[in-house]
Amino acid sequence: MRQISSNKSSLFVCRIGLICSHFNNRWTRAMPKFSGGCLCGAVRYECNAEPLGMAICHCTHCQKVSGSAFSVNIVVPAPSVTWQGQSASYADTGESGKPLSRKFCRNCGSSLATETEALPGAIIIKAGTLDDKSWLKPNYHLWTRSAQPWVQIQSGATTFPKGRT
Ligand SMILES: [Zn+2]
Ligand SMILES: [Zn+2]
Repeated sequence: MRQISSNKSSLFVCRIGLICSHFNNRWTRAMPKFSGGCLCGAVRYECNAEPLGMAICHCTHCQKVSGSAFSVNIVVPAPSVTWQGQSASYADTGESGKPLSRKFCRNCGSSLATETEALPGAIIIKAGTLDDKSWLKPNYHLWTRSAQPWVQIQSGATTFPKGRT
């Protein structure tokens, strides 16, 4: 059992990988804030924390890995996510020059998450894998210097020509 928070209603990861809370001497399964998974369903995740940020990344690596014009990313504390199923990871070096690990499904190839030294203790979930995307509100754009010229960035959005760090 691994403890992932130390406030009054402590959260733990139980034997079968679910996030549970211990409160008033009772164990209950903590409701995930959001969940998702890969295309084939072999890899699933649940997150128990509010996102720290939501960003659209236009870097050339995100374009490759998503097979699209950009990736939509949710940053959360790494211990707040529990994973089920077998994934694989690819060791990449981001355009920032910092090493990062890209998690994907070894069966269907869906891109699931990224961990980078630029954001220690955090994990970046690929928002296209969410079960419910209705609440997504990306609030900034990264690496806009390589944004596709036909992508329209909403006026008033916070943009960074390169990464934030
Ligand atoms: Zn899969
Ligand atoms: Zn990127």
